[in-house]
Amino acid sequence: MRIVDKPVICAAIAEVKEHMARAARENSRSPDEVTLVAVSKTFPAASIRAAASCAQRDFGESYVQEALAKQKELSDLDLVWHFIGPIQSNKTQEIVKNFDWVHGVDREKIALRLSRQRPDSLQPLNVCLQVNVSGESTKSGVAPDEVFALAATISGLPGLKLRGLMAIPAPDQDPRPGFRLLRTLKNALNDRGYKLDTLSMGMSGDYEIAIQEGATFVRVGSAIFGNRSYG
Ligand SMILES: *Cc1c(COP(=O)(O)O)cnc(C)c1O
Repeated sequence: MRIVDKPVICAAIAEVKEHMARAARENSRSPDEVTLVAVSKTFPAASIRAAASCAQRDFGESYVQEALAKQKELSDLDLVWHFIGPIQSNKTQEIVKNFDWVHGVDREKIALRLSRQRPDSLQPLNVCLQVNVSGESTKSGVAPDEVFALAATISGLPGLKLRGLMAIPAPDQDPRPGFRLLRTLKNALNDRGYKLDTLSMGMSGDYEIAIQEGATFVRVGSAIFGNRSYG
């Protein structure tokens, strides 16, 4: 079911935001500390335009070609674009030109390409380092004990600005320990002199738990736009 209807999408966003604010307040956090990234992958530009009509600004996409087509259609809107999918080397050129944030950086080689290719005319690309918080059951993300080395590399690259950490806990596990580990790693990096302000964690099924554990971005797709047939 692909929802493009404005009132339906705006009501869904309002409901998610209400849950976000409650989770924040229950944990003595201000609701403004948490930004909703509306994950619009697989949904048409019309769905994004509908969401933008009720003040949603941040959108997450996972497939470069699909995202570029929609960005072109929506170029009259002032939106913040987050690339949240796996990053292939042959797509970095398009990513650096068309996105404000990249959440899934987990390899030095990709970080170097992103930095080298980021146009000088743009601010450094905001980057989250993706951490594998679920052990062997997932493939994406660096192992927790490799976070420090990759953070050191990324923070030395002129085209990138290391903002924080991102994780996608394995779907068959309790997400809380993974979220907690991600927060612990961010704090450990800041103890070593980094100034990270971002924890990208939580999706439609677990964003309230993520906020309880310190999320500053939640990436929510199906709770806003409906079920996806793929992706
Ligand atoms: C698709 C996706 C989401 C959104 O998932 P929902 O369960 O639909 O909210 C969040 N993060 C990443 C990395 C994704 O690929």
